[in-house]
Amino acid sequence: MSKSKSSESVKVVVRCRPMNEKERAAKFERVVSVDVKLGQIIVRNPREASASELPKIFTYDSVYDSNSKQIDLYDETFRPLVDSVLLGFNGTIFAYGQTGTGKTYTMEGVRNDPERRGVIPNSFEHVFTHISRSQNQQYLVRASYLEIYQEEIKDLLSKDQSRRLELRERPDTGVYVKDLSSFVTKSVREIEHVMNVGNQNRSVGATNMNEHSSRSHAIFVITVECSELGVDGENHIRVGKLNLVDLAGSERQTKTGAQGERLKEATKINLSLSALGNVISALVDGRSSHIPYRDSKLTRLLQDSLGGNARTVMVANIGPASYNVEETLTTLRYSNRAKNIKNKPRINEDPKDALLREFQEEIARLKEQLQKRSGKKKRRRQRRRAGEGSDGEDLEEGETEDDDEEGDDKGDYWREQQEKLERERKAIMEDHSLVAEEKARLLKEKEKKMEDLKREKDAGEMLAAKVKAMESKLLVGGKNIVDHTNEQQKMLELKRQEIAEQKRREREMQQQMESRDEETLELKETYSSLQQEVDIKTKKLKKLFAKLQAVKAEIHDIQEAHINERQELEQTQNELTRDLKLKHLIIENFIPLEEKNKIVHRAYFDDEDEYWKTKPITRIEDDHQMMTRPLSAVGYRRPLSQHARMAMMMRPEMRYKAENIMMLDMDLPARTTKEYQEPVIAPKVAAALEDALRDEDEIQVDASGFHSSLGSTPPASGSLKKPKSGRPRTGKKSSTPTSPFIPSSPGSPLYPQSRGLVPK
Ligand code: ADP
Ligand code: MG
Repeated sequence: MSKSKSSESVKVVVRCRPMNEKERAAKFERVVSVDVKLGQIIVRNPREASASELPKIFTYDSVYDSNSKQIDLYDETFRPLVDSVLLGFNGTIFAYGQTGTGKTYTMEGVRNDPERRGVIPNSFEHVFTHISRSQNQQYLVRASYLEIYQEEIKDLLSKDQSRRLELRERPDTGVYVKDLSSFVTKSVREIEHVMNVGNQNRSVGATNMNEHSSRSHAIFVITVECSELGVDGENHIRVGKLNLVDLAGSERQTKTGAQGERLKEATKINLSLSALGNVISALVDGRSSHIPYRDSKLTRLLQDSLGGNARTVMVANIGPASYNVEETLTTLRYSNRAKNIKNKPRINEDPKDALLREFQEEIARLKEQLQKRSGKKKRRRQRRRAGEGSDGEDLEEGETEDDDEEGDDKGDYWREQQEKLERERKAIMEDHSLVAEEKARLLKEKEKKMEDLKREKDAGEMLAAKVKAMESKLLVGGKNIVDHTNEQQKMLELKRQEIAEQKRREREMQQQMESRDEETLELKETYSSLQQEVDIKTKKLKKLFAKLQAVKAEIHDIQEAHINERQELEQTQNELTRDLKLKHLIIENFIPLEEKNKIVHRAYFDDEDEYWKTKPITRIEDDHQMMTRPLSAVGYRRPLSQHARMAMMMRPEMRYKAENIMMLDMDLPARTTKEYQEPVIAPKVAAALEDALRDEDEIQVDASGFHSSLGSTPPASGSLKKPKSGRPRTGKKSSTPTSPFIPSSPGSPLYPQSRGLVPK
């Protein structure tokens, strides 16, 4: 591969898998033949009626038949791509094709079989072998693994598998997946482990793995960063990113008889795939200025791989059997178009987001910190040495020091220090001249010193370990370079590569010869006789006619395919229109206009996600906006809005009495009686009453003519006292004030006179 080319085509290879057991058992006809030498796939029409029809021929960069070995594909097609990733280019490998044609086989293969390992494991081997052989270079390798299912991105390496990730775009680094986890890997084993974890996560969520994998796109990303001292004396970092994409099955979803909801779901599943097709068409067309990358997550994420800064290989997988012929032809046409996409790959030098740079800086910072620590130690030691002898109590005589050695044997230093302190402690213990208190104090001091020493040692060790851990992630080669077998292996690989290159060139030449043949033949020919001329021209005419027929047939096929596609689109459109009408109907009839307007006002188009969204409800003094949803007030046992709280305090409304619906105040019943009202009395009657109610003391009784016939002693003359009755006096209330002792017969003088109450 040449590096200097500014623009290069997407490389398309086709691989035809062998017939499987079922197909063989059912005796399906083989309709695909593969011409490896010419890089051609020839498809016959299986229908009996069209036996005369010419076979369809498609030419690619290279083709692989059912006997092809995984390693052949790798050496010829993928190795150059991975090599350029190691140089700092971006690279992408797509596996395209109907379900069951060998996409996953090509990408992953059979994991534990070295013969049948796919591109992904082979590239692991390739990358780490390359690093181990490198010299004067530092590498950082990391891996990510994601899946796109129904236009949702899932991080297959994340702990939380229910989380969905978003795509973001930055002007400097382009489109990326926000919060996608990536793991730094130091060996083939480690990166394999990453892949296995991802594969496990992929199958966990799926009830039917086959169906799931045929409907989702899996992308394994390896990022290789390499730092090397440039000619300018500066370290330069190159970053190559390898996307390994196992696409969803390309079969038409309508074929499975999906309708209604399921069809819609199916449309969504294949959205990324049809968007990929549209992007390819738009890129190849040359007339369209707009490339619909934004139509799907897949095309957006892999934008660079299609017409951008990347080298891209597309592997189209097909099956050989007759019942798949339609899908096979679709795949072949699809990939044939992709051949014409022009990419502009370039080496990514010193990008802003290189992780390697961050690592290097962090290591340098930590090392500096370590240096400072040891510097501190050194100074302290010198200080101590200077003070030696002057202090009578100093017990450091036995110490031997060598400052020059310090950096090299830190372990010795620590040991020395510890031993010294231990010695000192012992000396104090044994010193009988000291007072007990003094001894305890000194011992305590020493112990504290020992603790400090230990803490410092631990901190130092931790720092050193951190530096070591970080450094271990940066890979450097050169260790195995003298390894003889390695050398031999390298030679072998080189030879294989050469052979692959040779094959490729041969194929190219063959292809060119074929096409020139027809053009140049004519110019050279001279005819000896008229008859000969007629013969030759007839032959040529026949050949051209055949070609014309083939082209016509191809046009016819493509037209048919287009018609089919259009019908499908129309069907989808009809369904969507019906849906839309229904929704309109519901909106018109059941949603109040006012509410509808509110929603319409809140709706806006998110350019980032290309989606209609609704703004959150905010309190704006605008009629169209809804009020803010009241916040929950604190201090209540259940969520309670501020509004409700206020209402609860201000108005005794039952509605907001959620906290305590019992009202304990006495609730007196309303009064149903009236206060007594005196009747209005005419003055004459009032006077009469007044008269009648006068105290009876004033009544004059004339008892002079009373002759007792009753035998009772009559009272002496004077006033007759009214007997006391138990009843209290009731004021003016009229009652019969007469007692039985006071007869009031008018005829008899014994009785008091009438007071005129009763009209005479
Ligand atoms: P896809 O991923 O396209 O749905 P798979 O990779 O799962 O298809 O392949 C379906 C089956 O065919 C698998 O059992 C696989 O082992 C087998 N197969 C595919 N391609 C080849 C091949 N080139 N050689 C041998 N077996 C193959
Ligand atoms: Mg698969």
